[in-house]
Amino acid sequence: MTLSELTLDREGLAAAIACEDAAFEAALREEAYRVKVATVGPEVYLRGLIEISNICVKDCLYCGIRRDIRCPRYELSEDEVLASARIAARRRFGSVVIQGGERTDAAFVRKITRLLGAIKAIDTGEDPPLGITLSLGEQPREVYEEWFDAGAHRYLLRIESSNPDLYRKIHPDDPLHAFDRRLQALYDLKAIGYQAGTGAMIGMPFQTAEDMAGDLLFYKEFDAPMIGMGPYNPHPETPLTLSGAPYPSAEKRFSLGLKMIALLRLLMPDINIAAATALEVLDPRGREKGILAGANVFMPNITPEEQMVKYNLYDRKTILRDCPVSGGKGDTHICKNCVFPFCSMGDGLTGKKVVIGYGRWGDSKHFTG
Ligand code: SAM
Repeated sequence: MTLSELTLDREGLAAAIACEDAAFEAALREEAYRVKVATVGPEVYLRGLIEISNICVKDCLYCGIRRDIRCPRYELSEDEVLASARIAARRRFGSVVIQGGERTDAAFVRKITRLLGAIKAIDTGEDPPLGITLSLGEQPREVYEEWFDAGAHRYLLRIESSNPDLYRKIHPDDPLHAFDRRLQALYDLKAIGYQAGTGAMIGMPFQTAEDMAGDLLFYKEFDAPMIGMGPYNPHPETPLTLSGAPYPSAEKRFSLGLKMIALLRLLMPDINIAAATALEVLDPRGREKGILAGANVFMPNITPEEQMVKYNLYDRKTILRDCPVSGGKGDTHICKNCVFPFCSMGDGLTGKKVVIGYGRWGDSKHFTG
């Protein structure tokens, strides 16, 4: 297949996803990067990722923090979350993402509401207050409203798979995990006024090229202003892994991850696309390669290190520590793998004109116009 043969309909996308020709994949990534720069510019926007808790009421069959898995649980205190948010402010990341296991109890909901107010009050010097994305799963509409009113303006809720049959295979068959419930939550977020982002895992058991093409078309139909999708990575103790259902090799999942970013950039040129952490598990420069394939959002992980290692969605032994607060020395220690200029020890993105959107929210052009 060549780039000129690519069509962005279901058939064409599925053919591109199935095509394993290295020259085609390289040309596709190159073209997606060109379209990104021409449409949303060379900027990469940062979101300091704060993994607030691995306690979850859901029991998703693929997830290493699912309710029924035995693992050490944690929940960051409000002070710990604010300390991480202050790191984001000092480093001029512009935004934070608060992500965690799903909880709908009143204590947790109120805690998030308080935190939103406190994060908005952090002194950012001449920059605007920190932008805030939440990724805390399905919530009643009133909770989404409460958090929106308290200052959250973006929300990431992956559809995981847009194919309801595949969705059913990777989730328990009960009302708490129903596909329609997830879809409704996405529509609630949109109606409230959030930049409602979604995404799916890539390279899962049972997933076909047609399913992945369907995911891309779902993003387009939902008119998502931002997408955070990434490769599926098996966790050794989840029912999905233990079932023995086959899934593509790590190499293939990685190249599929990049290819999906590139195809999405061509399909929806002006949206925000994140270079997911899951890419980094498969390649030490995975997120950088995601940026070079058309993504424009990068999320340095600023969760305190001793808790970060417990946010074990999948085997993350290889994961870098972006900006851990280590040994009580504040945010001075930065991982050597860090690829952007904010990291004094990193070697930077070479050969491409990448500009970091320091101190800016970097909202989706698709949303703001
Ligand atoms: N509770 C929130 C939610 O459900 O949206 C946010 C936390 S959840 C752990 C964040 C994302 O992790 C999920 O949307 C899922 O796609 C991803 N995830 C979980 N297990 C994974 C795995 N084994 N491989 C890749 N991604 C995984």
